[in-house]
Amino acid sequence: MISIDKSVVKKPDILSDNEISKKLLGIKNDANPGKKITNLYNEAEVKVKLLKLYNNKCCACEQEAELEIDHFRPKNKIKEKTNHKGYYWLSYEWTNLLPICSRCNKFKSNQFPLKNENTRISDNLEQEGFLKNGEFIFENFKIQNLEKEERLLLNPEIDKVEEHLLFLPTGEITNLTEKDEKTIKIYKLNRNWLIDKRWNIIENQIDDIIKIFIEWGEDQKLKKRFFDFFNNELKPDKTKNYSRFRYFIFEYFDIFVVEKLKDMGFEIHAKELENFFNEWKKQL
Ligand SMILES: [Zn+2]
Repeated sequence: MISIDKSVVKKPDILSDNEISKKLLGIKNDANPGKKITNLYNEAEVKVKLLKLYNNKCCACEQEAELEIDHFRPKNKIKEKTNHKGYYWLSYEWTNLLPICSRCNKFKSNQFPLKNENTRISDNLEQEGFLKNGEFIFENFKIQNLEKEERLLLNPEIDKVEEHLLFLPTGEITNLTEKDEKTIKIYKLNRNWLIDKRWNIIENQIDDIIKIFIEWGEDQKLKKRFFDFFNNELKPDKTKNYSRFRYFIFEYFDIFVVEKLKDMGFEIHAKELENFFNEWKKQL
């Protein structure tokens, strides 16, 4: 997960207040309104904008994949409170829509945990200030305005994700806060498949590094060769898949790469590589 600034993109025209109002007024008295939601939120105009903003990566696990549209606050009945209708009224709310891979979406499903269940927004939308004289107050729908709920799920468009989720050289993620812990659990961010994908980034880099040393030996151009390599693979770049994990390799190069080379018996090469890396990093 990485932080995303949605304010740089204009809300899709198709999600206009008029259009949404008609749809929501027609279902608000239904016992299970989430089931009556139409596919408007999934139209090409919405999807194209979201995918571009997220560089075609899942909002949770950062893999490049076929993506779906997730409702951050679930449109259907929520798992944590069975007598709650769910957040059907946010089904077409631009700030509640995030691109997600099918696995993360399936694992998350209708979960939206809060630290304190008493802070949850009730189904009484008039009382909560989202409906007045039969009209929806859409300016209150922005999820940035729903922070009275003590949510336990990280949101890449609100939270400073950089201050959460600690990545380890093994490819695993560990939590810094209770919110991190729930987020990892809900999206299963430590599933084996993802750990392997992240771990492979390091493994491949170490393989490449060893190859370069072997092929180039004491070559004078070795330094330039490594600088090119760092630029291509390690320079922080949010458009790359698993960029948050890559950032940890960049930031903790000694732990993520140098130590591993040493463990493999490439002590001298490890030291030389560390010097190149530090020199390169200073230039950025
Ligand atoms: Zn995912």
